[in-house]
Amino acid sequence: MAPTGYTDHGTIRVCTCCMLTHANAECGDDCHDAEPWSVLPMSAGWEAAMGTDEHDAECTEGDREEGCGCESMEFSWSACDGCGTSLGGSRFAFVLWRRIASSASL
Ligand SMILES: [Zn+2]
Ligand SMILES: [Zn+2]
Ligand SMILES: [Zn+2]
Repeated sequence: MAPTGYTDHGTIRVCTCCMLTHANAECGDDCHDAEPWSVLPMSAGWEAAMGTDEHDAECTEGDREEGCGCESMEFSWSACDGCGTSLGGSRFAFVLWRRIASSASL
């Protein structure tokens, strides 16, 4: 469910730097080649929350409580949806929302 004033945009997969930046506002020095969230800047009306609504068919309720594999990938070469980097590494699922323009107050 999207927060008030936002619309569901689906699940994205982001790199460790984007995940850490979202959680801690920093990831470290010299660990990335693209600025975290440069593709989907939160200041431009994007909002993301860690996790996913899209689970594998064989994923059970119990799996989800323990933290299932649908929410993170050990290793992937696919481009990060947050910053666009294609450096190989872990990918973490985030639910993405976009602010509805007509209700924007900022
Ligand atoms: Zn980094
Ligand atoms: Zn799952
Ligand atoms: Zn990234």
